[in-house]
Amino acid sequence: MPPATPSPEDSDREYFFNRISQLSGQAWREDPIYSPLYHPTGFIMSACSPSFYEEQVVPYAKEFPNSVHLETAEQWRATMPEGVLTGEFPGWRGVFRRTGAGWVFACGAIQAAHAEAVRLGVKFKTGSSEGAVTSLLFTEDKSGICGAVTADGQTHHADTTILSAGANSDLFLDFKKQLRPTAWTLAHVPLSPSEARTYKDMPVPYNIERGFFIEPDAATHQIKICDEHPGYVHMVSDPKTGEKRSVPFAKHQIPVESEARIRQLLQDTMPHLAERGFSFARICWDADTADRVFLIDRHPDYPSLVLACGGSGHGVNPMPAIGKLVVDRMEGKMEESLRKMARWRPEQAVDRDWWSLQGRHGAYEKVMEFADVKEWTRIGEGRSEKL
Ligand SMILES: Cc1cc2nc3c(=O)[nH]c(=O)nc-3n(C[C@H](O)[C@H](O)[C@H](O)COP(=O)(O)OP(=O)(O)OC[C@H]3O[C@@H](n4cnc5c(N)ncnc54)[C@H](O)[C@@H]3O)c2cc1C
Repeated sequence: MPPATPSPEDSDREYFFNRISQLSGQAWREDPIYSPLYHPTGFIMSACSPSFYEEQVVPYAKEFPNSVHLETAEQWRATMPEGVLTGEFPGWRGVFRRTGAGWVFACGAIQAAHAEAVRLGVKFKTGSSEGAVTSLLFTEDKSGICGAVTADGQTHHADTTILSAGANSDLFLDFKKQLRPTAWTLAHVPLSPSEARTYKDMPVPYNIERGFFIEPDAATHQIKICDEHPGYVHMVSDPKTGEKRSVPFAKHQIPVESEARIRQLLQDTMPHLAERGFSFARICWDADTADRVFLIDRHPDYPSLVLACGGSGHGVNPMPAIGKLVVDRMEGKMEESLRKMARWRPEQAVDRDWWSLQGRHGAYEKVMEFADVKEWTRIGEGRSEKL
């Protein structure tokens, strides 16, 4: 996580991402709440297809000229302790940044931020009843938002309401197609305590067509593997308009086709784990905006409603900066160039193509539909030891 530096020569988009990267990078490196969760283990950017290599890996290598080029299986294996990478890496080419990059422990960061918020006096209501919002609360004349209603029937009144429910945000308000709930798939493979010691502090290998994995969780010894692809949607007809839109749902299994891709990723990189049973799997939702820039703004028609959503697949790394942006927007002092990029912008989504790849690769090179999934894993039900 190098000190990113926004520059006056940046395009609006470059400035936005460089600025939030600068703000969040500083927090991950120095802030006492966030810095313990940052693991500067190094990062490998890679691809298999020559065209995607040229498109994304070569520019990355130019940006970080001290990166080490990886072409052969021997070079790949040498990036980690002996025995971690045993695969042949067929077609894999990448660049390895040894310093200034790594991963953040997302769950730990949320727990740390929660603990700090509690210490500062924030009161949380959680759980499937009193913590689950079922609708926003409108003023009697329907002209404003004045809080939220939860599943236990309670109404919660507020001067300012922040809608920040990830992919579910789209269920509470007409976002005019600005959000597309999109899901990705991940699984955990359990390691023994001694394996976990070997894998500790390994760099993150990310292949833009295959996926990535990060070192095993310190407590559970499970290694997390994410299957890279343009995402799944769940298109449902809106009963009011008849138009189709993607609607999130929860599932603690993944499509068997995703399991096969994850096992292929393991076969390429760590074949000694390719047949091992999964201990956990999830479909995991996020809200994609049309340009994959976050949506942080006051609602133009309901000024008491602040929107903080549109993670677009990259909302964890900038987490410490997002909070600042939301507060700045609420207090009316958000940097103008940032405000412009993260504004309410339905004009971008008028003819939105729900099937747009949005710059992503992998799987069948298309956005997939959960309704087409023929078979799901049955992890924890005595299956999935092997395909
Ligand atoms: C597999 C996968 C890998 C990813 N990898 C990366 C990565 O490497 N780097 C990166 O930066 N980002 C990554 N992301 C993206 C990142 O996780 C999201 O961008 C980010 O979590 C979005 O944050 P959010 O707060 O908008 O939504 P969420 O994290 O989804 O949080 C929404 C919150 O709202 C709550 N909520 C939802 N509905 C209700 C309701 N009705 N009532 C009350 N509460 C509700 C939820 O419980 C949740 O706590 C990844 C995402 C996935 C799926």
